[in-house]
Amino acid sequence: MTANGPAAAGTSLAEATRALNAWFEIDLDALAANARVLRETAAPATVIAVVKANAYGHGIEVVGPALEAAGIERLAVIFLPEALPLREAGVTRPVLVLGHSFPDDAEVAVANDLTLTVDTPELAEAVSAAALRAGKAPVPVHIKVDSGMHRFGLMPAEVAALAAHVRTLEGVTLEAIWTHLANADHEDDSFTTHQDAVVAEAIRLAGPVPMRHIANTATTIRHPEFRYEGVRTGIGIYGALPDHTPNPGLRPVLSMKGRLARVFDVAPGEGVSYGLTWRAERPSRIALIPIGYADGYQRALSNRGEVLARGRRCPIVGRICMDHFLIDVTDVPGAATGDEAVLIGEQGGEAITAAEVAAHIDTINYEVLAGLNRRLPRLAHRAGVVEATC
Ligand SMILES: *Cc1c(COP(=O)(O)O)cnc(C)c1O
Repeated sequence: MTANGPAAAGTSLAEATRALNAWFEIDLDALAANARVLRETAAPATVIAVVKANAYGHGIEVVGPALEAAGIERLAVIFLPEALPLREAGVTRPVLVLGHSFPDDAEVAVANDLTLTVDTPELAEAVSAAALRAGKAPVPVHIKVDSGMHRFGLMPAEVAALAAHVRTLEGVTLEAIWTHLANADHEDDSFTTHQDAVVAEAIRLAGPVPMRHIANTATTIRHPEFRYEGVRTGIGIYGALPDHTPNPGLRPVLSMKGRLARVFDVAPGEGVSYGLTWRAERPSRIALIPIGYADGYQRALSNRGEVLARGRRCPIVGRICMDHFLIDVTDVPGAATGDEAVLIGEQGGEAITAAEVAAHIDTINYEVLAGLNRRLPRLAHRAGVVEATC
């Protein structure tokens, strides 16, 4: 491999990262195992793996094909353009678009076999016409119910009216009615039960459909009665969990790592990084990590949180910059330039999860993962052997 280019498939992670300042490791064995656990949990319901937001920051080009190989039947994204990298990566299974689309999207959707969630007669008509032109009629469409979260979707009477219209169109077939749950990760399930009843009402008005899907990861794990024909699992696929959700055996897929780029001593009273917001209270050894908020390691982590070096937890000191931050390695014997630092993941029996990072900055693991951007390379591996990069 070249110093900063993509690693060749078949090289070890150690070799592939030797000359990388920072990177993500995507554990394809963990991903496949999580897919298996969720499929077993949901069965006989179909698992629709949610790969929005670059597969929750994991890299959609590697995650999509790996999930298909692991037997996942369907995938879902929010917006149509997010689905195209899946097709470019060779994914052939149905891909559902969960968010808003325009009639102008119909052509591309049909050409790429993407299933749209339709919310207007105009969109349904455009999909129908595109399907007839492409000789693919009838193509499936889904309708989303606003069952009380009041985000995207239609009220039950509107669902029924649109379903009736869809049924008059030659080029489309209504495959599913679905909703999204507002309080799936709450201890109290009363609102989930209410939303389920609203969907039942929408279906009573609209007439039966082959598929209903309302459950996200939390509901899939916690409530067999809401799995219906399909479940949409996002965070669980990546081995992270919503609040109030027991772990059925899921393992984290992503690690975030960097190499100590400089290790140096600062005297008591000296400050580090922008604003000199941290000052040494003792003779201190400091290490520079070449990762910053431009990589999704949020500035709010300044002077909060920890990083693993030589298997020990080291406090973040000073501000997180766009491209760099510092940790205190005074208590890490032998810490040296080139050492691997773990921001998310395991080292020497210690582990830092996305949820732990989130807790330091008053957010959730979802935001930490989805916020990891594309500057750093992602090395997808099985048992430490690189299989693909993106
Ligand atoms: C993100 C999302 C999901 C997945 O939710 P998880 O809690 O990550 O399992 C399912 N459905 C919709 C509509 C979503 O936006």
